[in-house]
Amino acid sequence: MSANRHLVVYPLSGVKTIAVSIRVKAGSRYEPGPSWGAFHLLEHAISAFGTAKYPSSELFRQHLEDHGINVGLSTSNSEINIHLKAPDQSLSQVLELIDELLFHPLLDSPDLANEIKVIDQEYQDKWSSPYVKYHRQIDQKLYGPEHPYIRDGLGQPDYVKTLTSADLQNLHRHYFVKPNIFIGASGNVPTETVLKHIDQILSNHLGSAVQETIPPTHFDPSTLYFSEAHSDSSVFHWFWPNHGDAKLTIFQQMEYSLLRTLLGDSQSSRLFKLLRTANGLVYRLETVTGMYPLAGYFGLFFSADPTKYLQIRDLINAEIAKFVSTPIPEAEFSRAINYLNLQINNVYDSPDKIASSLSGYLLNDGRWIKPEEYLKLSQRFRESSIRQLLAKLTSKPKLITYICSRPVDL
Ligand SMILES: [Zn+2]
Repeated sequence: MSANRHLVVYPLSGVKTIAVSIRVKAGSRYEPGPSWGAFHLLEHAISAFGTAKYPSSELFRQHLEDHGINVGLSTSNSEINIHLKAPDQSLSQVLELIDELLFHPLLDSPDLANEIKVIDQEYQDKWSSPYVKYHRQIDQKLYGPEHPYIRDGLGQPDYVKTLTSADLQNLHRHYFVKPNIFIGASGNVPTETVLKHIDQILSNHLGSAVQETIPPTHFDPSTLYFSEAHSDSSVFHWFWPNHGDAKLTIFQQMEYSLLRTLLGDSQSSRLFKLLRTANGLVYRLETVTGMYPLAGYFGLFFSADPTKYLQIRDLINAEIAKFVSTPIPEAEFSRAINYLNLQINNVYDSPDKIASSLSGYLLNDGRWIKPEEYLKLSQRFRESSIRQLLAKLTSKPKLITYICSRPVDL
């Protein structure tokens, strides 16, 4: 394994494939100006019109097929993601494609108008789902109606329609530079060669990092009822706001995971056993967390018969009070830690997942955190700290949201 701040290569013997995951800090929340959606169009354009060396969609596609290379792209609120997967014999083609896709895509094409229509359809498909609309309203209550954290990665169709190739080239020039790019590679690869080669590609494109200027968030704790007349299923969410993860250490993030495992995220968790196993009151039940740098939430999600809501509410409140005030039995505590430790190793089982996990660490945490480091840190867990964490997280007023065919007495 070799690494720097922008690149980690993790060789995996016994496989015949390579995977490269590239994350560029170029999502809707970083878009300059009051409108957004240009990064999404840029993401489509990167693979749609070919690159300098393969200057049409036809030539580009043929090249990928000839060497068995899969390329997948996506955009979110925080990044453009490019994922490459190929047989190991196509290593040199993959290395060349990293350079071509990142730094030499053809963005000036008469087909741009078609791609804008495609995005419009993608937007209609996504927003026809009532659950997407429900979660949009939740985000508005958690962060404020216009906050950059809740900008849809797909963008605003009316704004996307106004964009030109020149707009895309301008954005591309400023954002596709080394300080904003994070790459993980894994599979049957010669580590040092790959590291040197990609590092060379990146150092041809220095530039400056994205400056994040995030305005304050506004939390609105008033209940959200989302009417879904054609559905008999009822889904409830509880959200307690917090300060996000910018100031959380790796260990504190691990404490969140342990709390979630103990409280509601496994079949042996407290709330699962109480609400589902012992009383049959819920079908789905999970804890939920959302983490942006400066704001986030901790909460619960469950699906249940709305006439049982008050009974469920009282059981949850009593269990949280008990969790906070009573020491967690040693057997329960150590079983949860052991389970988490085993999950950490489960991520490192395929080139795809490893590459994606590595680039995610570089983007979100500034460095790769090795499995060994997690395992070592997990020896520091104290049951009293986990109880204090739940007390702290649930001390503020919470937001209750639900989706149901009729209003519920809460
Ligand atoms: Zn798209």
